[in-house]
Amino acid sequence: MAAHTVYKEPAPLTDRENPLESMMSRFNVAADILGLDEETYNVLKAADKQVIVHIPVTMDNGKVRVFEGYRVIHNTILGPSKGGIRYDKNVYLDEVKALAAWMTWKCAVVDIPYGGAKGGIICDPTTMSAGEIERMTRGYTLALKDVFGPDRDIPAPDMGTGPREMAWLMDEFSKTVGMTSPAVVTGKPLVLGGSLGRTEATGRGVMVSCLAAMAKLGMEIEDTSVAIQGFGNVGSWTAKLMFDKGLKIKAVSDISGAYWNADGINIDEAIAYKNAHGGRLEGFAGAVSMDAEELLTAPVDVLVPAAIENVITEHNAGQIQAKLIVEGANGPTSASADPIIYEKGISVVPDILANSGGVTVSYFEWVQNKQGFKWTEQMVTERADRIMTDAFEKVYQTSLKYNISLRIAAYVVAIDKVAQTYKFRGGF
Ligand code: GLU
Repeated sequence: MAAHTVYKEPAPLTDRENPLESMMSRFNVAADILGLDEETYNVLKAADKQVIVHIPVTMDNGKVRVFEGYRVIHNTILGPSKGGIRYDKNVYLDEVKALAAWMTWKCAVVDIPYGGAKGGIICDPTTMSAGEIERMTRGYTLALKDVFGPDRDIPAPDMGTGPREMAWLMDEFSKTVGMTSPAVVTGKPLVLGGSLGRTEATGRGVMVSCLAAMAKLGMEIEDTSVAIQGFGNVGSWTAKLMFDKGLKIKAVSDISGAYWNADGINIDEAIAYKNAHGGRLEGFAGAVSMDAEELLTAPVDVLVPAAIENVITEHNAGQIQAKLIVEGANGPTSASADPIIYEKGISVVPDILANSGGVTVSYFEWVQNKQGFKWTEQMVTERADRIMTDAFEKVYQTSLKYNISLRIAAYVVAIDKVAQTYKFRGGF
């Protein structure tokens, strides 16, 4: 690649629904139910701010490559914007816009004082050295130093990023303001002011909201089987915590393929295997290989898509056998699949509720940084579990009140909160 070209691979949009359109079509339904006024609708429809940056990075071979990065602030009426940063070769602006809006709804559903944002860099971190990723992360932070801030916009990990990248971001931002500023980012390593319980928080919230939905559906733990798509942070922690509760995990998958065991996979062994084999399950003896697509339609009671967007579509929704879908990923179900799933009587705990445990504990991390006081793990998990169960109950009651799906009910709860805040604050 010539040194002056911007590293940018076109997103494979064919055959993929646009997540922004998926988000907007649910937003429209919920806005109608609420009778949202046109002014507030128009404000919420558009992101407050979108920043595109180009980050020159000296690669290990001495050549400079320019990476394209984004930060989209969807809304800040509830508080500083919050949301992760995604490193992936398929990142594109509409996706980041959808993810930013989902953060607004997510924070509103769990009632934490944040707006929504998301960031991303088009890159393939699996082919980059740690040094290249560090230089790119620091460049991105510098480019966005006036956007980020502990009371302005607070990033966190997402796909392709973790505590290591958050540490670099925190360090670079701290240098620009001339003081250590831990509250500018969450998902940090523990020694840098990270929170106990943050790593497993998203998976824990998925497990807690799954159990809450199972209780409503009269499903017993010992009779329930699960298939989980994705074995990264969210998928593996969901699997581990569900396994510990006694649910039977019959299928898991990762980038290397899908794996099935009708008697239940020993998740402790699967995680140990993954950690010992370069983060992949390939060759794991505790299960047999299955078609990755078939995992989504496998004969299980609960399906947890915990990988990427748009994996459940109008093409496969009709074949889903699970009674309950709990969305660990953001946007795993395209809007075209919603009516098919609803007509089949499948319950869906939607992404903006099911995976909000992550941002909830991010909020606790930020509170601890601001307090300068560390909470115990028990404080974190008890408070996070309570927030998740309260939010689930609120969404569930809203779905009964309007006779709507849990997904639309979650949007109704979120949009109502944001709209009421606008009403009191006024000021357009
Ligand atoms: N990236 C995560 C999400 O999509 C976490 C965001 C955060 O903690 O701010 O919810």
